[in-house]
Amino acid sequence: MKTVLVTGGAGYIGSHACKVLARAGITPVTFDNLATGWQEAVKFGPFEQGDLLDRDRLDDVFAAHRPDAVMHFAALSQVGESMAQPGRYWRNNVTGSLNLIEAAVAAGCMDFVFSSTCAIYGDQDNVVLDESCAQHPINAYGKSKRAIEEILEDFGAAHGLQSVIFRYFNVAGADDAAEIGEFHQPETHLVPLILDAIDGRRGALTVFGTDYDTPDGTCIRDYVHVMDLVEAHVLGLRWLGAGKGSRVFNLGTGHGFSVREVIAAAEAVTGREVPFAEGPRRAGDATRLVSGSMRAGQDLGWTPGRSTLEQMISDAARWHKVGHYES
Ligand code: UDP
Repeated sequence: MKTVLVTGGAGYIGSHACKVLARAGITPVTFDNLATGWQEAVKFGPFEQGDLLDRDRLDDVFAAHRPDAVMHFAALSQVGESMAQPGRYWRNNVTGSLNLIEAAVAAGCMDFVFSSTCAIYGDQDNVVLDESCAQHPINAYGKSKRAIEEILEDFGAAHGLQSVIFRYFNVAGADDAAEIGEFHQPETHLVPLILDAIDGRRGALTVFGTDYDTPDGTCIRDYVHVMDLVEAHVLGLRWLGAGKGSRVFNLGTGHGFSVREVIAAAEAVTGREVPFAEGPRRAGDATRLVSGSMRAGQDLGWTPGRSTLEQMISDAARWHKVGHYES
């Protein structure tokens, strides 16, 4: 394995994947339209600016770099926005991914690693969320990812495309050298918003809903460190390289934390108070999303060793002090 095409390599998770790929001796070729990514985050291999909706451009990039595999991160990924603008999510995520998958098959690039989401499971109380769990996504974002998983399954059956699908739980933290990190414009994710609120970069955090059926009334999520998450992708590539076939893996720790618990952890780590106000629920949010699967550990040998709340928040805070992108 020499070269991997990384769509969304200028984004938060994709840029961290490029870093670990380069460290593993693999050249990451970033393909990104810079709609939500940052050129400054492309530090570990060549950059090809382009849009997944442009099939000709994709074909040119496959011909120029002849990648051995694809890691597909590029997507619109905000739950709330997906409820207000479903058309953008279906076009960008589903049509864009279909173009990419067809271009990969046409180029004979048959190993495909895909970023899916726990949002695919929807709101299922008292159900263990493992990979065989029924899928009932409750937002357009999750539905768009479910559709792409189905496309991959069909292309596997018809054309022999091998895919590793990772269903992410909540990703947080940053590169431990703070060379890259999480930076969205606008920011919607909990940990960077907490750090912004602490620093006074914006007003108080709004806690979205305090009347959920959870011990403290706020939503529960399973947070995983971005560096652990991208390490799983390298293991996924090896899995495919060994010809072990298509497989779906949850990437979470199995431990859930409420919004209030994340706030308390941030206060403990930083020694600063988090200004926050209680607000209404955000459309599309599930009550509790916690992985119930050990599959990635058993099959891939994955251990999310950095994924404590303390480590994720302190790594995010280190990046947050120095890091932001401008272009
Ligand atoms: N959240 C919140 N206030 C915010 C942003 C997020 O209370 O300003 C909550 C959100 O309702 C969810 C959790 O924090 O329960 C994680 O949300 P995030 O947007 O970070 O990730 P998601 O779960 O949507 O992938």
